[in-house]
Parts: sequence; C-alpha cells; structure tokens
Amino acid sequence: MVYCPKCGDIYRRIAWNNRGKHSIVWRCCTRVEHGPEKCDAPTIQESELQAAVIKAINTALGNRDSMMAALQENVEAVIRQGDESSAENIEARLEELQKELLRRANSKKDYNSVADEIDHLRELKQKALTESAEREGVKKRIAEMREFLDSQATEVLEYDEQLVRRLVEKITVYDERFEVEFKSSMTVDVIG
Ligand SMILES: [Zn+2]
Repeated sequence: MVYCPKCGDIYRRIAWNNRGKHSIVWRCCTRVEHGPEKCDAPTIQESELQAAVIKAINTALGNRDSMMAALQENVEAVIRQGDESSAENIEARLEELQKELLRRANSKKDYNSVADEIDHLRELKQKALTESAEREGVKKRIAEMREFLDSQATEVLEYDEQLVRRLVEKITVYDERFEVEFKSSMTVDVIG
C-alpha cells in the first residue's frame, strides 16, 4: 500500500545491508529494478514510514470531531449517489420497455429501437448493481473508521500492523512528507 509519487509504482520492503549495518528500508520498485535514472524517489527507513502512519492516525484522532462530520458527509453523498441511479429505477423502465416491445411485435410494427434501448438499459442495470456493491463497501469502510475514532480514546503509541491494514488504503512517499489515505477516503498529510 506504499506508492511512489514520481512514477506511480509501488514501494517494496527490502532488507538493506550498508557496510555491515542492517536495516529494513522501503524503495520504489522502478528505482530498484531500473536505477535512479528511471526514478529518483527517495529510500525510506521502515521506522520512519511506521512513525508517519502512526502520526497520521493520531492526527485523525486529534481532529475527531471534524473527521466524524466529514465521514458523515461522505456517507450521505454515497447514499445520494445511490438514489439517483438505482438498479430499481432502471428495472422499472425495463419492464415498461419490454411491454412496449411485445405490443409492437404483436402489431407487426418495427421494434428494433426498443430492443436496442432494452440492451442499453440492461448494461446500465449491471453497472448500477456493481456500483451499488461498491457503495456498500465504501459505507462499510467509513463505518469502521467511525468505530475506530469512537472507541480509541487515547493516542496510538505503537505501530500496529493489523490496525494499519484495517484503516489505511494508501501511503504516498513524497520528498518532504507522507500522504496517508484512509480507507474511508480521508487523507492526512504528515511531515516526515
Ligand atoms: Zn518511482
């Protein structure tokens, strides 16, 4: 879930041995495989990366009220999107068109345009169903973030891999800062 802002590739975890000094670092895959002339993204220590993620989570906790309000807005926006293009609306229109098609066929009228529209609406309905499933996923992730903000009374002190996997979608490594995007689509910038 760690990304390079320069080439868009992912960062890879690497055991680094620098003149007998061992450490775990994260590096851009393009840079590892093709050298610094292809991508000059910085190498970062794992400890730095973990500290940045904890800082981002604690920033979210510190701004609990505004985070909660923003999450609530996100949920409402997701629900509104669903109302506008619901599969049920499309289904209702499809049923009308199927009746219309039968009427035309029975009276030997041309029904090609109706058949085309039915095909088109079937595609739209499939798309609406997929989007509806995606919206449910977003709602679930927002609920998890709210639950975390509600239940975590104090700052997080130690790096917790499970917690991070649950909450964090993406970390982008810039030269001077990290951008941490939570699964609930909220983004927090952390100066590294
Ligand atoms: Zn890169």
